[in-house]
Amino acid sequence: MIYHELIVVGGGLAGLRAAVEAKKAGVDVAIISQVWPGRSHSGAAQGGVNAALANHPESADDTWEKHAFDTVKGSDYLADQDAVAQMTKDAIPIIYEMEHWGCPFSRFEDGRIAQRPFGGAGYPRTCYGADKTGHYMLHTMVEKAYEAGVAMYVEWFVGRLIVDEGVCRGVVAYDMISGGWTAFGAEAVIMATGGAGRTYGNSTNAIISTGFGMAMAYHTGVPLKDLEFVQFHPTGLLTTNILMTEGARGEGGYLLNDLGERFMERYAPKAMELAPRDITSRSIQTEITEGRGIGGKGYVHLDLRHLGAQKIQEKLPGIRDLAIHFEGVDPIEEPIPIVPSQHYSMGGIDTDMDGATVLPGFFAAGECACVSVHGANRLGGNSLLETVVFGRRAGAAAAAYVKALEEKFDSSTAARRAIAEVEERIDRLADNAVDGEDPYAIRLEMTTTMKEHFGVFRDAATMRVGLDTMYELKERVARAGLRCTVGVFNLDMIRTVELEGMIDVALGIAAGALNRTESRGSHSRTDHPDRDDTNWLKHTLAFYQPEGPRLEMKPVALGMFEPQERTY
Ligand SMILES: Cc1cc2nc3c(=O)[nH]c(=O)nc-3n(C[C@H](O)[C@H](O)[C@H](O)COP(=O)(O)OP(=O)(O)OC[C@H]3O[C@@H](n4cnc5c(N)ncnc54)[C@H](O)[C@@H]3O)c2cc1C
Repeated sequence: MIYHELIVVGGGLAGLRAAVEAKKAGVDVAIISQVWPGRSHSGAAQGGVNAALANHPESADDTWEKHAFDTVKGSDYLADQDAVAQMTKDAIPIIYEMEHWGCPFSRFEDGRIAQRPFGGAGYPRTCYGADKTGHYMLHTMVEKAYEAGVAMYVEWFVGRLIVDEGVCRGVVAYDMISGGWTAFGAEAVIMATGGAGRTYGNSTNAIISTGFGMAMAYHTGVPLKDLEFVQFHPTGLLTTNILMTEGARGEGGYLLNDLGERFMERYAPKAMELAPRDITSRSIQTEITEGRGIGGKGYVHLDLRHLGAQKIQEKLPGIRDLAIHFEGVDPIEEPIPIVPSQHYSMGGIDTDMDGATVLPGFFAAGECACVSVHGANRLGGNSLLETVVFGRRAGAAAAAYVKALEEKFDSSTAARRAIAEVEERIDRLADNAVDGEDPYAIRLEMTTTMKEHFGVFRDAATMRVGLDTMYELKERVARAGLRCTVGVFNLDMIRTVELEGMIDVALGIAAGALNRTESRGSHSRTDHPDRDDTNWLKHTLAFYQPEGPRLEMKPVALGMFEPQERTY
């Protein structure tokens, strides 16, 4: 058995930031990651990261309180306001820390970090590095983690948590390079495995953003919070759903329908293209449904041509490359065909502000966690921020937890049991190899069902059909077959093992969505079009049960801002 005092699962921005903080506190920490950390989905983030630096000429009087207000209003008042205040306050020093660590942010003429307008924000406060902000931040953090001496287990896939007498004591992982499952003993674990986008068939997320990290926590009894809130980004490429950053509209891009109208005028006359993502996605979907998509088809245009070649090449070079290579369209010359696409999981592992969960020794941070700072709708640029702010806090809290332990656990018996359970499960999948269910057919049905039944607009009848399908898939996945159980880089095994967890998370999204009889943020029901603060100003907690999720409610932390109607 391998042993480290603290194991961080995931080498994205949240995991790296947590590990660096814990290492600084003198704890022996290791990151286990399915991909080399620099290839995590954080590196795909384009548009930027929010902090009230007040560098932009139009944001001289910006403050963290205004950032907090925009975040809470954007969340449709479901965000916990104490957590939002913490994040927006910490934003300013943590961006300067990233700068001092070498992150190459774009700059204004006077040398200060540049900022651009983003959706739902009263001020231009999104700091950026061209349209590759996540890439720059991630590589800065990767260097920092290696410099700090964090141990790295790269290309290891974590398959389950080790829990002994109600305390988390490590993980079991598959070594992709050499083959075989190994136990990692630890005093504490931080889950930082990213979002669950790939439960949907139309996601902007990387293939590895499956939500399986959430599922591992869920299966041990840790509740998942607010799963029904799934963000659809307004501008994914038509054929691949690859993201065209909100920064494209921040730099002045237009959304146009078949009549050439800037249709956002009808839906958000003040904010126009920079309304929050939930509102913008619904507006696009409405244009499409009412027949004003381009050529009457299912998409609209993102038009950047008026920005000119120089601005596009300087500020949005990545967007241009992606549009050329994946859609065959050069935005300097043609408008880009786009559709709303699944983008972000507002929900996740229920944590407090220090990443702690109900399971002692188990913490979570980043997109797999739900603190909650995004409530029912996340503002663009707040997620990169969340990863570093709450990654740092989780790292510090887990380190303090480890250091306060009076004696180290001997988790070898629990570890042996956990490995045996993983191996039994693999054997069960192998027994079904010949006449079992095809896991890829199940996966496709899951992603199609989530896309079609739990999309931008929802209603009870459509969701009920989708939920029934998800229950059927849950039954079928128990009989899934695996042809090959050994060897190196056995991606077939990884994809099959995680599928059961993905279905449980998807079922949590579905059940939460059907249960919540109101419209709030990204959860928009045509049969319950209004927000209902009397009955629904509360979080959903989903608890795992083999027969399907049990839902409970949890109060929202209010106190700074009274819920108001949202207009933009
Ligand atoms: C295309 C795109 C653009 C975005 N743009 C922005 C933006 O401009 N601004 C913004 O604020 N937000 C943006 N976001 C959101 C933001 O990038 C993510 O929410 C954030 O980076 C997630 O970071 P993370 O550290 O939580 O997870 P990730 O970066 O997704 O990292 C997850 C890590 O977990 C590991 N992992 C997962 N499962 C396992 C397992 N079972 N075993 C071992 N390792 C595992 C992976 O290897 C990886 O290292 C964007 C997201 C996307 C998809």
